[in-house]
Amino acid sequence: MKVVRSAAALSTEGPTGLVPTMGGFHEGHLSLFRAARDENDTVVASLFVNPAQFGPGEDLGQYPRDEERDARAAEGAGVDVLFTPGADELYPPGFETWVELEQLGHTLEGKFRPDHFRGVATICLKLFNIVRPDRAYFGQKDAQQAAVVKRMVADLNVPVKIRVLPTIRDADGLALSSRNAYLAPEERELALTLPRALATRDPEAARAALNGLDVDYVAVADFEPRVLAAAVRIGKTRLIDNVVLEDQ
Ligand code: AMP
Repeated sequence: MKVVRSAAALSTEGPTGLVPTMGGFHEGHLSLFRAARDENDTVVASLFVNPAQFGPGEDLGQYPRDEERDARAAEGAGVDVLFTPGADELYPPGFETWVELEQLGHTLEGKFRPDHFRGVATICLKLFNIVRPDRAYFGQKDAQQAAVVKRMVADLNVPVKIRVLPTIRDADGLALSSRNAYLAPEERELALTLPRALATRDPEAARAALNGLDVDYVAVADFEPRVLAAAVRIGKTRLIDNVVLEDQ
């Protein structure tokens, strides 16, 4: 596996799959790498903790960073190129062009993280333009992010196929997330309330199950597929999760 730090040094051969990530690799990321491996000649994983998708007071400074560990995990899952550019290359002085989704960027997560999806859509378009992948892989865990990327690609005629893969969970039901590393043992126990509440597949029942926790939202979202989604804060950690509602 090659580790590439600048767009100029990047090269791909044949049908190419891109998996955009922020590192802290777990089985969720690895499932995307493996899916990309199955379908493409070249698999590129980008590792970039994108400052533009973090709000003031969020966890940009604390976000887990361990490139060596991530590189080993990516290589083991079949990644050919780990693309890890610096923020100064992707957001040079004078940068001022943003991709904004007027509606989808400002509902649910977007209400609590106002510039988040602008940061996500912009970095994804930049990565698509740099890597020129045939396919790009995202997790259902971030259902609104997947919806945002699909909308952006359709609206701006970006020639890439978006693949969305199922949420990978720990044995106890907690969706894998780089942010789970922030949870103390007793917080992790409390965090299990989130998947248990969503497993009811009913917004009222889920709201009742989450009663007493610091809940940002519990809502049915009309993405494709439709989901029951929620965000809660456990201490300083903000967790999101969703379940697909099959009965559409
Ligand atoms: P991140 O590094 O958190 O930005 O995530 C990179 C990609 O992995 C995104 O498309 C996420 O939706 C996906 N992902 C994160 N957690 C999971 C999970 N538990 N299961 C499946 N995909 C995931």
